[in-house]
Amino acid sequence: MKKVVVKDKTFKVCISQEKIRERVKAIAADISCDMAGKKPLLIAVLNGSFVFAADLMRELDFPCEISFVRLSSYAGTASTGKVRELIGLSESIEGRSVIVVEDIIDSGLTMQEMLTMLAEKKPADVRIASLLVKPDNLKVNLDIRYRCFDIPNDFIVGYGLDYDGEGRNLPDIYVVEE
Ligand code: 5GP
Ligand code: MG
Repeated sequence: MKKVVVKDKTFKVCISQEKIRERVKAIAADISCDMAGKKPLLIAVLNGSFVFAADLMRELDFPCEISFVRLSSYAGTASTGKVRELIGLSESIEGRSVIVVEDIIDSGLTMQEMLTMLAEKKPADVRIASLLVKPDNLKVNLDIRYRCFDIPNDFIVGYGLDYDGEGRNLPDIYVVEE
C-alpha cells in the first residue's frame, strides 16, 4: 500500500490515478451526452477543484468554456457575522447552462451557498459535478448530477485536495491513517 507523509500525518492511497481517470472519463461522457449543444460554462471552485476541472474539461469534446471562482470569507457586521462573497466570475451567466465543478462535497453547505449566489445571476440551469461526495455527512438536499466517487467521512488529500496547503500535487487520492 502506497503511503505518503504530508506535514505531521501519514496517508495511504485510497483511489488510484487510474481509477480517477476512468471515472472522470465516465462522467465526462455523461456530461457530453446531456450538455453537448448547450455550450455550458464550467465554473470551477478554487482552490481544490483545479486538477479535476483540468482533467474533466479535456475529456469534453464539445464547445464549452471555463471560469474559476472562489468563495471569500470576510468579517461582516456584528449582526451578520461571517459573510461570504463569490469572487472571480466576470462573465454574465444569464440564460446560460452552468456546471459547477467541485473537488469535494462534505456537509454540502458550501455548494448550497454557491447555488444561491449563482441563482441570483439567472442562469438557464445549474448542474453540479463533484469529484468526491461524503454522503453520510450531507446536511442539505443537493442534486449532485455528476459525481466520481462517494467516500466515507475520512480526511483525504491529493489530486488537488490539500492538508494545510500541501498535498495537492499528489496524483492519487489518499486517506489519513488512523
Ligand atoms: P462542505 O461545505 O461541503 O462541508 O465543505 C466542502 C469543503 O470542505 C471542500 O471544498 C474542501 O475544501 C473541504 N473538505 C471537506 N472534506 C475534505 C477532505 O476530506 N479533505 C480536504 N482536503 N478538504 C475537505
Ligand atoms: Mg472545494
